[in-house]
Amino acid sequence: MSHLQPAQKYTEDLKNNKTIHCVEFESDSEKLYNAFVNVVRHGKNNNTYKFALAKFLLDYSKEHDKVKVNVKYKDIAKKFFDYYWLQECRYRLRQGPKNQVPLVIKIIREEFDEENYPYRLNKIKLKHSSKIKRCILNITNNCFDDVIPRLEDDAEHCFGKPRKAQSKKRIFYDYHAIEYRDSANNKRVDSKGGVRLNPYLINMLKENNDTLFIVVVFEWIKFLEKRNVGIPNLVEKIANNELMPRDQRKFIEYLEGLTDRCFYCNNKLKSGKNTHVDHFLPYDYVGTTELWNLVLACQKCNCKKSNSLPPESFVKKLEIRNEEHRNKKDELGMSLKTLWNENEFKQYYSNAMSYRFPTWCGPAQNDPA
Ligand SMILES: [Zn+2]
Repeated sequence: MSHLQPAQKYTEDLKNNKTIHCVEFESDSEKLYNAFVNVVRHGKNNNTYKFALAKFLLDYSKEHDKVKVNVKYKDIAKKFFDYYWLQECRYRLRQGPKNQVPLVIKIIREEFDEENYPYRLNKIKLKHSSKIKRCILNITNNCFDDVIPRLEDDAEHCFGKPRKAQSKKRIFYDYHAIEYRDSANNKRVDSKGGVRLNPYLINMLKENNDTLFIVVVFEWIKFLEKRNVGIPNLVEKIANNELMPRDQRKFIEYLEGLTDRCFYCNNKLKSGKNTHVDHFLPYDYVGTTELWNLVLACQKCNCKKSNSLPPESFVKKLEIRNEEHRNKKDELGMSLKTLWNENEFKQYYSNAMSYRFPTWCGPAQNDPA
């Protein structure tokens, strides 16, 4: 067996039901709870991997029971891809200072150019499975060397044990079983392997899932908020796996009462399927469906504009439309009350621009009326 790589040996030994190390897992649920909260709230934050890994543990424990303790790095990487696809490509949240882009983001950017960015997760998964596979392999091999040991070591540290001592009790998971020494004799985690989760941790996370989820999301937002000033609905964007717009077609009747022309090309709209309701500022930026941000568009304009920002000349046009309703007690008037002031809309527009939301050049011939 000695010719096998540690990760293979680990898998082999598991198959043969051998105990590789005499690992004991912490079983006191209160201690585990405190360790989880402590590690998420304190400790080093040079990027958001820690939060992503904590979110993974919560998601995993929700979906599995305590028997499923062996987790491959590849499975963690799949979830990382989902989390960061949404943050980077759909919501364009900044993950850190300009010169410290985390590797996971670099991996996604290298594989996908900007025109793929607004896609929903299920759509991108159908369309680009081979690109995603490469991303996941890359994440598996390159993103976990630091965060996997760190989370466990920090947790062990919470119990007052000296960091270097090989403590026997593992808190979150056992990654030591798959450590190997590379040529420089440095201890490394074999990124082709995985971790063996503490079964008591799975139980504790299952029981306290909702509360701990809030802790993780709160800390993640705390990290991101300084870098994402003026981004609406940050909480929803980090907490939910994917935001889906409310059915905007239910507003069609109201909007048809205001105009019978396409907001962008000004052509007369034929009632029916070819009339679209468009989020003026992309839904991925605002994260809500509000009438102040909805306009009617013909199919052609709507499809071309898609998730991008319209040309700036249309900002004024929408402002004028909304201004007429500001003090009315109708649906649009009520919706406008969700904005603080008349400038908020303009600020949103330039803010979205600075966050790299794509812009559409506008309809070919007609200028806004
Ligand atoms: Zn049009």
